[in-house]
This record gives sequence, structure tokens and C-alpha cells, in this order.
Amino acid sequence: MKYCNLCGSSVSWRIPEGEDSPRFVCNNCHAIHYQNPKMVIGAIPVADEKILICRRAIEPCLGKWTLPAGYLENGETIEECARRESMEEAFAELANMQPYVLINLSFINQVYFMYRADLVNRDYRPGTESLEVKMVSTAELPWDDLAFAVIREVLKIYIEDLRRGSFPFRVIDMDAPPKKKICV
Ligand code: ZN
Repeated sequence: MKYCNLCGSSVSWRIPEGEDSPRFVCNNCHAIHYQNPKMVIGAIPVADEKILICRRAIEPCLGKWTLPAGYLENGETIEECARRESMEEAFAELANMQPYVLINLSFINQVYFMYRADLVNRDYRPGTESLEVKMVSTAELPWDDLAFAVIREVLKIYIEDLRRGSFPFRVIDMDAPPKKKICV
């Protein structure tokens, strides 16, 4: 951050009075600009024991496979976000939304929240952010071509739970992947 988005003056990186952490503080209007983690919400859409996956048409990780997910918007609930992202990326309509896993990615200031959900429709197809959308069995998952380490983790957990036949809600703290690569 270089300029105050309230008055346009320069900002300094310093600890405001009465606080413990440095923040961007406006040199003119003294507004404190807090920066907080972003939430990414998504889903594992399932039908006929297959999972819907999307091949990304955008960077980062263009051409790699992922689950429908994206940034939570202001004024939106997390369930609305998962439904919206699934619709935008794959024209996939979800039902029976089950909160499934929360993953802290503190090294990139993100929190992922993924649902398990039933895929309702069969006319799913790529939205503007996807090159391709398909249903795969767990044996057909493209492990060498997945977009994100966090998605790999979610899919691994899902397969283990599928074997056990129970899907408890979990909170996971992920470590930075080697070399801090986002795409795996
Ligand atoms: Zn200002």
C-alpha cells in the first residue's frame, strides 16, 4: 500500500498508538488501514460417486485442475459464495451443502473453507474461468496436474473419509509448500 484510499496522501508502515503490530497509517488523515486474511470458499461437488473438477482458464495455475472455489464477497454468506463460484466456474448447481474442512493458509494470509455438496444438474459446462469441466472418479483424479497444494490436501482428506465412510468437519493448518510455490 502506497497511498491512503480515503484522502490519497502517502502512508507510513508503523505501529499506531495503543497497538502492537505495524499497520499502514495515513500521514495526512491518520486513518489506520488494517489488512486481514482473505477467505476462499469452495465445494467438492459429487454425483454418482464422481467429483466435478475444473481446468483453470486463468492464472495462477492456468491449465491446471481444481475444485470450484473463490474469494468471499462482501455481503455474501459462505454458502452463497460456494454456490456462486460453482455456478460461475462450471454452471454447477449444488444441494445438500455439508461444511467439510477449514484450512488455515497463514503463510499467504488466506483461509479456505470447503463444502461437500451434491451436484444437482448434468448440464454443467465451463464458465469463463474454466477451460474444461468434468466428473472424475477418485481413481481418475489428475494428481500431477492439480492447481493448488490446498486442493490436493482437500482431495486427499476426502478420499480417506470416503474409505472410512464418515466425513467429520476438520480444521487444518497447512504449512508453506516447498519454495512457496502456489501451483503444484
Ligand atoms: Zn488519508
